[in-house]
Amino acid sequence: MTAARIVIENCAIATVDSVDTEHPSGHIVVADNRIEAIGPGRAPRGLPDVVRRIDATGHLATPGLVNTHHHFYQWITRGLATDHNLFDWLVALYPTWARIDEPMVRAAARGSLAMMARGGVTTAMDHHYIYPRGSGDLSGAIIGAAQEVGVRFTLARGSMDRGASNGGLPPDFAVESLDGALAATDATIDTHHDASFDAMTQIAVAPCSPFSVSTDLLREGARLARSRGVRLHTHGSETVEEERFCKELFGMGPTDYFESTGWLGPDVWMAHCVHMDDSDIAAFARTGTGVAHCPSSNARLAAGIARVPDMLAAGIPVGLGVDGTASNESGELHTELRNALLINRLGRHGESALTARAALRLGTHGGAQVLGRAEQIGSLEVGKLADLVLWRLDTLAHASIADPVTALVFGAAAPVTLSLINGRAVVEDNRLTTVDEDDIARVTRAEAQRLMRLGEER
Ligand SMILES: [Zn+2]
Repeated sequence: MTAARIVIENCAIATVDSVDTEHPSGHIVVADNRIEAIGPGRAPRGLPDVVRRIDATGHLATPGLVNTHHHFYQWITRGLATDHNLFDWLVALYPTWARIDEPMVRAAARGSLAMMARGGVTTAMDHHYIYPRGSGDLSGAIIGAAQEVGVRFTLARGSMDRGASNGGLPPDFAVESLDGALAATDATIDTHHDASFDAMTQIAVAPCSPFSVSTDLLREGARLARSRGVRLHTHGSETVEEERFCKELFGMGPTDYFESTGWLGPDVWMAHCVHMDDSDIAAFARTGTGVAHCPSSNARLAAGIARVPDMLAAGIPVGLGVDGTASNESGELHTELRNALLINRLGRHGESALTARAALRLGTHGGAQVLGRAEQIGSLEVGKLADLVLWRLDTLAHASIADPVTALVFGAAAPVTLSLINGRAVVEDNRLTTVDEDDIARVTRAEAQRLMRLGEER
């Protein structure tokens, strides 16, 4: 079999490999879905089977962005409860969220994925944890949307079994039983999880949070994930209220509670981790537990500033997350590079908290690490999967900034001229090639309005 080759030349390249190799002007050769060559200067002459040759003058090539925390369904509940903290926001929105059905979830997933992909995300994840009774095949709808948009994808199959009558926040009809949640998660792994190097779809086990799931579901969920060889994901240490809740209910803070239920380890990544003391950070470092840092969402819900520089210094894998778009209406990950850098500088490390290159690493290699895919994606290296982005930096927004990585991270959100995912062009000239954005906009608006009407009927 002959490989179809795409040759990209004349662009700056930030590989985000282990020594941050960069080329002021270089080339990348993609063969089928892999990176075949990368280096300074022009590509070798005389390569066979070149189907496309791109003069990328004025661009920066980086690994595709990797999103490590999201809730796609929230795309149709954006802009609500805009001035609330986390718990008040959850209480305000759960009755509406509990009414979601399959067409709504499909529309919201298409909207979330399209927005991220257009902004340079090549690997997405969805932590979906609301499966109301009789709402259809929500996991299948989400995975179908990722396949349609053409994005590499991890579905963190969530669950909740602590409803309102049991001291939890969600209404009872929106939660599952312990056995039901575990069986459905197991079946999702059977149907959809692909463990291969090139996998476009993977599944993780992801009970929602300490205050919406039982201790048994955490314990049994961890056991299930390890017996099936998939990863574990949940929310952790997001707010002071959560810390108080854990101390009252379990007599310990969230990190100790997670450790007692088997939820620290190199196969676990946790969203937020805002309220971590030195011993919590040491526990994550000791166990190799990863973090999905969501700076915009944490700011919107006034949750606080995660200690990312301390986590990185301790050797903890850290990726970036959009979080659900009910708490980060933009739904874009490339703006999180900038927000991670700026917000961490407001913390205890000041101007030395993060550099532009450290922020780019969080959004690429760090994300690949926490999703367990650092061998395959997250940096531009020979043999890795061809997930890469060409950012246009020669227009009004960036042309006067000399350093391309500084332009990308400190500057305005850069247009994406090309995004390759698994070697396939999913974005060309800032437009998605796989789906009709205007159609998605129409359908998501209609489904958001339908959900609001259902929410008002309750
Ligand atoms: Zn979240």
